[in-house]
Amino acid sequence: MTEFMEARERARDIADCLLWLDKEERLPRILSREERQGCKLINKLAKEEDVRPLIEMMEGLWASLEVEKIMGPLPTYDRECLICGKKLEPSVGTYFDDDPAEVQLVPAYPGVLFETTGNYGSTIFDSVMGNEHLHVVICDDCLKERASRVFFFKTMSRQRKMYDIQRWNPEKHYGE
Ligand SMILES: [Zn+2]
Repeated sequence: MTEFMEARERARDIADCLLWLDKEERLPRILSREERQGCKLINKLAKEEDVRPLIEMMEGLWASLEVEKIMGPLPTYDRECLICGKKLEPSVGTYFDDDPAEVQLVPAYPGVLFETTGNYGSTIFDSVMGNEHLHVVICDDCLKERASRVFFFKTMSRQRKMYDIQRWNPEKHYGE
């Protein structure tokens, strides 16, 4: 990736963050019309001479609005079993410590994390862009009790789109 492309990627990231925080009214001030337009334009323009000024604008906004300070340290959240409400421990391991970006996805102990972007067909949640998720944790006991209502999918061949789909048997299918 060239230096320009890297700078553009970073600025697009900033633009997405700013638009979100602006919508959530969490910035120290609302964005001006011009700034908001800049955030939207940077995802659409490709020519270096058009994008450069927007990169500068994004970097300036990122620093002056102190976005990193607003977001604070990586968020933690309670993990409660969807079924019984039991509080579960975050299962933080050394594997995750290496990559701060993974921390939000750290699952629960003892339980299984379900993450979904929703889907067409839902009347309540469908992240069309795929950049929003719902997280649900179900404790191992509750999941095991209801195993007969859980489906186990085994991808046999991606190329041939061949899947084996069965009712889940936790004694037999514990993941490989
Ligand atoms: Zn439970």
